Amino acid sequence: MAITAPRVLVVAGSDSSGGAGLSRDIEAIAAFSLHTALAVSAVTVQTHRQVLAVEAMPPALVADQMRAALEANPVGAIKIGMLATKGTIEAVASVLHEHPHLPAVLDPVLAASSGGALLEPDAVAALTHDLMPLCRLITPNLQELALLAGSQSVRSGEEALHQGRNLLDAGAPAVLVKGGHGSGTWSTDILLRPDSEPVRFEALRLNRSLRGTGCMLASAIAALMALDTTLEESVRRAKQFVHDRIGCGA
Ligand code: PLP
Repeated sequence: MAITAPRVLVVAGSDSSGGAGLSRDIEAIAAFSLHTALAVSAVTVQTHRQVLAVEAMPPALVADQMRAALEANPVGAIKIGMLATKGTIEAVASVLHEHPHLPAVLDPVLAASSGGALLEPDAVAALTHDLMPLCRLITPNLQELALLAGSQSVRSGEEALHQGRNLLDAGAPAVLVKGGHGSGTWSTDILLRPDSEPVRFEALRLNRSLRGTGCMLASAIAALMALDTTLEESVRRAKQFVHDRIGCGA
């Protein structure tokens, strides 16, 4: 009898430009030879330069898609990206409560790199308090980290670590502080967990940028976790994967 490989359930928004969101998630997961199941949280109209429209799906529809995906397939991990509204965050949290052993990776998407908002401002607290504690890993960039930790910006590496630890105190089991939007020769991501020393993942900073790298990283981590890879090894291999993708410009 053929053994069915687990799928990765992606809860995320579409991006018409193809630069980020669902299409990036599916590409990244397919690179690890896994299939996806989908719960679409929002449809966005985007070019690479601006967000023109955001249509959030009704929260119950998002939860129904998740439950149907979980019933239809063996799912090995969940990747959560853009959620758009507080209601959807709460709906996703209610489904995660039903599957406490399924690892979920949360990319706390707040805005596109063009500046357009992808999460309602009043939803940030729900992300921190209702959803983060139910996920295995949160993957904020420096800007997202500051907002989740209740500040305006991150001024130093020390401050980033402090804000990351604040998220652990708020109930996140692990936080990957992504340094990709910082400066310097190295792009360093730091994995924080409550009872371990921080683990640093370094890659040479490339002289080019690519949209959707946050989506790809979280999806690649979820794919590797679905394949029973440890958290640390999943982060290491996923970072290498994204680095290679930036290197080839796709
Ligand atoms: N659009 C959607 C639907 C996303 O999920 C994301 C994810 O981060 C983005 C845009 C942001 O991507 P970027 O920062 O590359 O604009």
